[in-house]
Amino acid sequence: MFKYDPKSLKAEEFINDGEIRATLAYAEEHKNDFPLIDAILEKARPVKKGNGYVCAGLSHREASVLLACEDKSRIERMFEIAEEIKLAFYGNRIVIFAPLYLSNYCVNGCVYCPYHLKNKHIARKKLTQEEVAEEVIALQDMGHKRLAIESGEDPVNNPIEYILECIKTIYSIKHKNGAIRRVNVNIAATTVENYRKLKDAGIGTYILFQETYHKESYEQLHPTGPKHNYCYHTEAMDRAMEGGIDDVGLGVLFGLELYKYEFAGLLMHAEHLEAVHGVGPHTISVPRIKHADDIDPSAFDNSISDEIFEKITACIRLAVPYTGMIVSTRETEEVRSKLLRCGVSQVSGGSRTSVGGYAGYSADERPHDTEQFDVSDQRSLDEVVRWLMESGHIPSFCTACYREGRTGDRFMSLCKSGQIQNCCHPNALMTLKEYLEDYASPETRAVGEKLIAAEIGNIPNEKVRGIVVERLEKIANGERDFRF
Ligand code: SF4
Ligand code: SF4
Repeated sequence: MFKYDPKSLKAEEFINDGEIRATLAYAEEHKNDFPLIDAILEKARPVKKGNGYVCAGLSHREASVLLACEDKSRIERMFEIAEEIKLAFYGNRIVIFAPLYLSNYCVNGCVYCPYHLKNKHIARKKLTQEEVAEEVIALQDMGHKRLAIESGEDPVNNPIEYILECIKTIYSIKHKNGAIRRVNVNIAATTVENYRKLKDAGIGTYILFQETYHKESYEQLHPTGPKHNYCYHTEAMDRAMEGGIDDVGLGVLFGLELYKYEFAGLLMHAEHLEAVHGVGPHTISVPRIKHADDIDPSAFDNSISDEIFEKITACIRLAVPYTGMIVSTRETEEVRSKLLRCGVSQVSGGSRTSVGGYAGYSADERPHDTEQFDVSDQRSLDEVVRWLMESGHIPSFCTACYREGRTGDRFMSLCKSGQIQNCCHPNALMTLKEYLEDYASPETRAVGEKLIAAEIGNIPNEKVRGIVVERLEKIANGERDFRF
């Protein structure tokens, strides 16, 4: 029997099955305890402090009570507070990124992923460095500045040296005014030594989805390959941090296990990182299981409705207000619109989830032979950017923080003091301006110019406003890459 200890480095102690079960029982018992629920909601609200806001966040137990609550008016209140937090810390900005698939060779047996080793009919592909360069040029020509690289686990085909070489290639390509300024990495759990190499290669966030926190299910869903080892996988973020990576991204694949269990496990993981490393996760992603070659989502009986999915997202926002939240093109435009109001701060746009899916294809052509999952939102980046602006958001291509050394606890303390806002808003406007100048359609550009003109007035500090106006002018005259 393992004892719950958020400070432990043992997976089964910081993600403790007994504590999760006790949490779920407590949440069930208190789901109609309205005085308690109202007090938790009150605790979650952002409070004005100085020029900004602070938020207390919620423990996994408190947040689980909210998730269990079925009272309509209180659920409505959760959404309102999620939006309040979103506006207090992230304003109306949405950061944009794209995935780049490097290789779908994989030695693991994950039953929900078409890249699993036993899938013999899917085409296997690994990009050469020339192909990586072509993909990067295609992504730059769309307007992307921030990528998340993805690769299966295969020590022979995709060793760490291959990943490092790809990162080097990606950063080296400067096509026209394009540049990839931040590479986030989503690769299998690895050693401290390899994490150190990734850190030295200048990565942004290291992302690793837990898939499920339920150990028994985890082992069944990952029957073969190195990923079968639940503890090695669950303890990966601690090794990443030991290797010097201080921005890590968590996520579960909703639909594999009971969502209430996953939710409590996810928040316990965040609490563990805070307790041990003094800094919680930089991002949390909320993917749901999707159809793909060889994969039928209805085979997984824990799939969740859009309504529950939105409630989970809002409750995560309340629990970890300083953590960025990511939703991908797995979700439809309609669901993404709702999630943006529940606190999501980053979206992908114009994504291809196949190896070599960008170069040589027009905006409405998409290869399916090596696709990891069906993309529900198939709009081009230009369409996504315009949609965001027309729905009251500022699309941001900002990558400033890690380039300015604002990572880990430095980033979090700026975030918690509200000071980060002074960087995010002007940076969003300047990077959007670059996008409009270099890549936008005339229609998108017209919407964007109007938005920027209106948003300049929302920069509170006069001096900063003056600098932004000057830099926007310089961008219009061909200069690039300004940042606060
Ligand atoms: S989820 Fe990742 S590790 Fe599992 S089969 Fe797919 S690519 Fe491989
Ligand atoms: S300033 Fe930092 S936190 Fe804000 S959008 Fe840019 S990279 Fe993100």
